[in-house]
Amino acid sequence: MAIATINPATGQTVDTFKAFAPAEIDARIARAAEAFTEYRRTTFAQRAEWMRAAAGKVDAASDEIAKIMTLEMGKPIKQAAAEAAKCAAAMRFYADNAEKFLADTQFDPQSVSAGKAYIRWQPIGPVLAIMPWNFPFWQVVRFAAPALMAGNVCLLKHASNVPKTALRLQDVFLDAGFPPDAFQTLLVGSDAIEQILTDARVVAVTLTGSEAAGRSVAAIAGREIKKSVLELGGSDPFIVMPSADLAKAAEVATTARCQNNGQSCIAAKRFIVHAEVMAQFQDLFVENMSALRVGDPADDRTDVGPLATEQGRRDIEEQIEDAVGKGATVLCGGKRADGAGWFYHPTVITGITREMRMYGEEVFGPVAQLYPVADIEEAIRLANDTSFGLGSNAWTGDPGEQRRFISELDAGQVFVNGMTTSYPALPFGGVKSSGYGRELADLGIREFCNAKTVWIG
Ligand code: NAP
Repeated sequence: MAIATINPATGQTVDTFKAFAPAEIDARIARAAEAFTEYRRTTFAQRAEWMRAAAGKVDAASDEIAKIMTLEMGKPIKQAAAEAAKCAAAMRFYADNAEKFLADTQFDPQSVSAGKAYIRWQPIGPVLAIMPWNFPFWQVVRFAAPALMAGNVCLLKHASNVPKTALRLQDVFLDAGFPPDAFQTLLVGSDAIEQILTDARVVAVTLTGSEAAGRSVAAIAGREIKKSVLELGGSDPFIVMPSADLAKAAEVATTARCQNNGQSCIAAKRFIVHAEVMAQFQDLFVENMSALRVGDPADDRTDVGPLATEQGRRDIEEQIEDAVGKGATVLCGGKRADGAGWFYHPTVITGITREMRMYGEEVFGPVAQLYPVADIEEAIRLANDTSFGLGSNAWTGDPGEQRRFISELDAGQVFVNGMTTSYPALPFGGVKSSGYGRELADLGIREFCNAKTVWIG
């Protein structure tokens, strides 16, 4: 894949970039390793000062950063500005909390015949981050803020369609005062991953992206015995039971499906609705989905912009064609918008069966699948009948049903009467083919630390 900025709202190529040659990659890794020897010895207070400065830089340049994201991947501009603000908040969160999260964990010394016993959480070195285009600032910051606060240094391989965003991120950390090589953007395609990850100076990898990329990167990391964290795809259920506030559920369902033009790993993708309230919910949901304003993502009145890539839209079209060909019914949308750019109308589709591709695959665009169920047993069974396990949403006012959803949904997170969202203070991650490891909160910063056991007699 060429490294290029292509405006998804027009299909026009704006800029192209030359990928680093192997010698340049080698030199960058050497700089990262060299930087780590000093950087690991900096204090939490110093790193927090730089991190707060980075947050200030992001806030100050929020409009400009939002425009770059929207240009490169088509996210509505108001959502891009919100993403920038969320990044600044996460930076401040780790500036405030990293030292506390990584304080020594003490043990009862008598139980281990010691004078003292504890865990010292230490940085491990240069970590490679392979990131996707869908939340191009947030995905990187969610990794980099804790990694840098822990004393690690970062090598970013961003998605090939967001090079300007990738370079802008490097500038944020540099301008904030971090040592020049503490955070480096590598302009490389995925064919360079083998070279980078097999290099002994790179100690670990985190990947946010598709299942296929995750399998490939985890295989290399496994062979090299290097720590990996995988944040992969999802096909989150959104369950609506009779006691739910249906108007609220239908409103949140629309946002949960269509935010970021439907391209979110934790978007609700399968809407599983109790038969008793299906007709009512369907009417409300279809009305909301049809009312979304599709158009120029640079216009702040737009709700849904284009898909980020031409291939992404083709994938959606093929999944819809497959389902309709096998008997599914489109209730609204189901087609691309006329004109230039990779737009697709918000869609609700029902009558999905196991034979259809979208039953088992992730649908990465504004397409909602609607499934009726007879009772909570069927709702849970259907929700779990997927290879994914990232987020999940359950709408019910019944405490007994809430308890069952919390304990029986196979997912890394369950949101009751709300939509799956990431918060810096809450751990984020998946189970099954959605990946392993956690980002954010205290668990996230510890992923790339050596939990060194210390015993002093
Ligand atoms: P992708 O094609 O897997 O790309 C993600 C990153 O991996 C890009 O930097 C890409 O580089 C790289 N990559 C692709 N194939 C690779 C390989 N074989 N070896 C090494 N690196 C490889 O995914 P995407 O289309 O950008 O993003 C959408 C996917 O990400 C969806 O499945 C979504 O659910 C998932 N996602 C998950 C989370 C989460 O937190 N769990 C968050 C956001 C997105 P190139 O661009 O150069 O190909």
